[in-house]
Parts: sequence; C-alpha cells; structure tokens
Amino acid sequence: MDPLDTSTPIGAAAAAAVEALTMERRRPFPRPSRQRIFAVANQKGGVGKTTTTVNLSAALAMHGIRVLVIDLDPQGNASTALGVEHRSGTPSIYEVLLGDRPLDEVIAQSGEAEGLFCAPATIDLAGAEIELVSMVAREGRLRRAIASLSHEVDYVFIDCPPSLGLLTVNALVAAKELLIPIQCEYYALEGLGQLLRNVDLVQAHLNQELRLSTILLTMYDSRTRLADQVVQEVKDHFGDRVLGTTIPRNVRLAEAPSYGQSALTYDPVSRGSLSYLAAARELAERGVETPNGAGGNR
Ligand code: ATP
Ligand code: MG
Repeated sequence: MDPLDTSTPIGAAAAAAVEALTMERRRPFPRPSRQRIFAVANQKGGVGKTTTTVNLSAALAMHGIRVLVIDLDPQGNASTALGVEHRSGTPSIYEVLLGDRPLDEVIAQSGEAEGLFCAPATIDLAGAEIELVSMVAREGRLRRAIASLSHEVDYVFIDCPPSLGLLTVNALVAAKELLIPIQCEYYALEGLGQLLRNVDLVQAHLNQELRLSTILLTMYDSRTRLADQVVQEVKDHFGDRVLGTTIPRNVRLAEAPSYGQSALTYDPVSRGSLSYLAAARELAERGVETPNGAGGNR
C-alpha cells in the first residue's frame, strides 16, 4: 500500500506530516539585524569545527541568508567540502593575510547554495603562523580585511585550525561571536580552559566585542551513557549558550566532503543534515532575539 494514499486515515496523517515537514524545511530563516561574524574554534583536533562551519553555512544559505566561509586552516577542508578550488597558486586567504590582497578578490562562489561564498585556504597558509610573527598589526589583519569587504553577507564563519596560534588569534580578533563545537566524548572539556583564557586576553586587549555565544555538541552517540554525561556537564557549565540541537554521529556527514559537498546537498534527509538544519535555524533565531547579546564568557 502506498503510505501516502490519502484516502485512508493513516495515509492522510502521513501526508499531512510530510507536508508540515516540507513547509518547515522551506520556511526562510530570519536575517540578523547586523552582520554576525563567528570564529569556529577549539584547539582540539577533529571535534567537528569544519563539519559545523560547512553545514551550518550551507543550511543558512539554502534559506535565503548570504554567508561567507573563511577557511583559515592550511588543511583546506572547508574549501574542499564547499567544492571550491584550493590548489597551491589559487588566490586565497594567504594573500589576504600576508599580501594585503582585498578579501573580495579571493572569494569564490560555492556550488552548494546561491548565497554561499568561500575564501579558500591553500597549503601556503601552513607558513603563515611563522610569517605573521614579524608583520605589523599581525593579530588584526583578518579583522581589517573583513572590515573592507564589499560583498554583502549576513554571516561570516571563520573555520579555525586546531591550534591557538596567530591564525586562531586573527579569527578571535575579527569575530564578534565565538562558536565552540564540543565532541561528546570523555575529556570533552579538557583544554577548553586554555581557549577561554585566550578569549579573555583577546577581549581585554584586542577585541572587546568578542563573546562566547554558542556551543554546539557534536558526534553524539545515543548508545553510550557517557555521551549523556558529557551533554549534561557541558550544559551545566555553559547554560543557555549550548544550542538545544545536538549533532549525532552520522556517517553521511563524514562522507559528504569527499564529494566536494555539504551533507545538506549530499543527503538532505540524513540525520546529520536534519540536525545541522535545526541547529542553523536555532542560531538564526537567536541572532534576531539578541543581536548584541549578553557579555561574559563563563
Ligand atoms: P581539525 O581540527 O582537523 O580541523 P575539525 O575539528 O574541523 O578537525 P572535522 O574535520 O569537522 O573536525 O571532523 C573530524 C572528522 O570527523 C572528519 O572526518 C569528519 O568528517 C568527521 N565528523 C565530523 N562530525 C561528524 C559526525 N557528527 N558524525 C560522523 N562523523 C563526523
Ligand atoms: Mg577542521
């Protein structure tokens, strides 16, 4: 029997549910009252920074929001996942940071969604941590580049490398908000103290506007009791800065980048995609409620 045969009560109910879900997916997201700039950071490797950057950005862009992703990791994983060229020699964020090239000149359109753009990272960026050391105003170079951007975008996401070096400092100085993805695993909170101390230093000396606005729990595995403990611990510690949506462990999220895609186009109805869609909506709705937000990091 066709489950959506609406002549039966169950079929009609199912059709109504599908219709409601489809409408919900299509409902545009609210645009922020002013541009939001996020640093997506956690010096721990492999916690989902890039997956979060790429899929939140794609979800927002698919709902009428204009988004720029700045790939600040020499690995170039965000550029790969957004299907943007990043071979050595491609105009990239390296030339912006080290060569004073305008950000507008290196931005490429992602095929993932109409309003989605990416400033790619090439392997050249690997030398930037050291090359930046001797530069004038070395911590504020990305901030200056974003300030003179003429591309009109509602959101900027800066995908940081897994370190607290000058690239991440540049992201923290350029951003208004910090988004920390936390993997639902043992020791999840370990090392965060160091990141938060850096955030305090940046706030005190370089960027008063910066605030830790968003925590996203990633790679949640419902089969382990440990994951629930981590979720609870993070919520106790960070309160309502933790998004209500938790991202499950889902193989589609890991597969999508090898096709140069976000999970949202690779498999739009996978649990991974739907959870990033829900997280993106939450993020967008929060941005409208509290455009300036509350201060404080802990
Ligand atoms: P790095 O510190 O190296 O930049 P990262 O913090 O950006 O890493 P990702 O690259 O997003 O982390 O994720 C690490 C690995 O885990 C990748 O292979 C990614 O595809 C996979 N992954 C991320 N999130 C999930 C998830 N929710 N479920 C399954 N796999 C995931
Ligand atoms: Mg990454």
